[in-house]
Amino acid sequence: MPQAVTPVYDRKGGAMEKMCCVCQRIKRNNGWVKVGKGLAMSQFSHGYCPACYRKAMQKVMAFGMQLQRATD
Ligand SMILES: [Zn+2]
Repeated sequence: MPQAVTPVYDRKGGAMEKMCCVCQRIKRNNGWVKVGKGLAMSQFSHGYCPACYRKAMQKVMAFGMQLQRATD
């Protein structure tokens, strides 16, 4: 089973701003916005935005099916 992406929290216990590791958008006001270059990547927790998460899951599923076929 693919593992669910869990939110990451900083040491103060608050949620860090989340950045999609694929399209580099950050979560802001319930939406995902493109950010300009020059932002410190380290201040974001990395994950997937819904669109990239879906794509990533499709890849994982396709890979899993290939494995299944290989073991038949
Ligand atoms: Zn994305």
